[in-house]
Amino acid sequence: MIHQITGRTRLGGLLGSPVSHSISPMMHNDSFYELGLDCVYLCFDVGQEKLGNVVNALRDMNTYGFNLTMPNKEAVLPYLDELSLAARIIGAVNTVKNENGKLVGYMTDGIGYMRSAKEAGCDVTGKEMMILGAGGAASAIAVQAAIDGVSKLHLVSRKSRSWEKAEKLVLKINENTNCQADLTDLADNEALRELLSSTALLTNATSVGMSPNKKATPLQDVSLFHPGLTVSDVIYHPRETRLLAEARAAGCKTFNGMYMLLYQGEAAFKIWTGQDMPTELIKKRYF
Ligand code: NAP
Repeated sequence: MIHQITGRTRLGGLLGSPVSHSISPMMHNDSFYELGLDCVYLCFDVGQEKLGNVVNALRDMNTYGFNLTMPNKEAVLPYLDELSLAARIIGAVNTVKNENGKLVGYMTDGIGYMRSAKEAGCDVTGKEMMILGAGGAASAIAVQAAIDGVSKLHLVSRKSRSWEKAEKLVLKINENTNCQADLTDLADNEALRELLSSTALLTNATSVGMSPNKKATPLQDVSLFHPGLTVSDVIYHPRETRLLAEARAAGCKTFNGMYMLLYQGEAAFKIWTGQDMPTELIKKRYF
C-alpha cells in the first residue's frame, strides 16, 4: 500500500544485488501508510561499482535513509560519516540514517535476532550463548549479544576462510564489550559438549540446512542437545531446519530466523522515523 506521492514525499530504499525478492518494500511502505508518513521505500539493484555514486546522491536528495544488503554491507563504510557502536565493531552496516546530509550507519540484524530470542522466551542477559559460523549474520548477532549483556559468547567456526575472521571478531568483542568471547573449532565435538553444558542459547548462523540442502545440519551429534538449551536458526527456508527438528525432539525450545528478518526491519523503521512500526499488522500480513 502506498499513499499519494506528494511534493514532499521522502525517498528511501534498499541497495543491493539482487534485491527483487526483498520483503522490505512491503514492510516499510505498509507501515508508512498505516502511520500516515509521507515516505516511500523502493529497491535499487546496485552493486559495489556504483555504490559510492548512489550513496552520495541519496545523501543530497533529502532521503530519510536506506538499507544495504549483499554485496554492500561492508562496501558502504567509506561513504558514511558516523557508525553506531555495533556497526563499528562488526565493520558492516545494514541501515543508514540521513541526518540532513550526515550519514549514520547502523546494524539492525543483531538487534532483530536478539528481539526474536526474547520473544521466544529466551532472555540471555548474564547467560552463555554459542554461535555457529563467522560470516555476516554471525558477526551481527555476536556483537549485539555482547552489547546486550551476554556473559560468555562461544563462537564456533570450521577451520576455513572464516577462522581468521572469527579470531578477529573474538578480539574485537573482548576489547569493546564486557562479554568474554572465545573461539572453538566446529570439528572439536568434546569441546562443544563441554561448552554447551553451560550454554543457554545455541544459534546456527551458518547457511547449513537452508533449502534446497534441507538434509544438512551443522551439528551431527544430537547427544549434544540438552533440555535446558534453546536452539535457534537464522534460516527460515525451511521453517524448521533439520537442526531445529532434532533439537525439538531432544526436548529443546526452538525458533527460526523469520522474526529476525521482521525485527531488523522494525529497528530500521524506528531509526528513520522515530516511530514504532505497526509490527503486529506487518507480522499478520507477511510472516
Ligand atoms: P556468510 O557471510 O557467507 O557466512 C556463512 C558462514 O557459514 C561462514 O562462516 C561459513 O564458513 C559458514 N559455513 C558455510 N557452510 C558451512 C559448513 N558446511 N560447515 C560449517 N560452516 C559453514 O553468510 P551470512 O550472510 O552470514 O548468512 C548465513 C545464513 O544466515 C544464510 O542462510 C542467510 O540466509 C541467513 N540470514 C538470515 C537473516 C535473517 O534475517 N533471518 C539475516 C541474514 C542472514 P566458511 O567461511 O568456512 O564458508
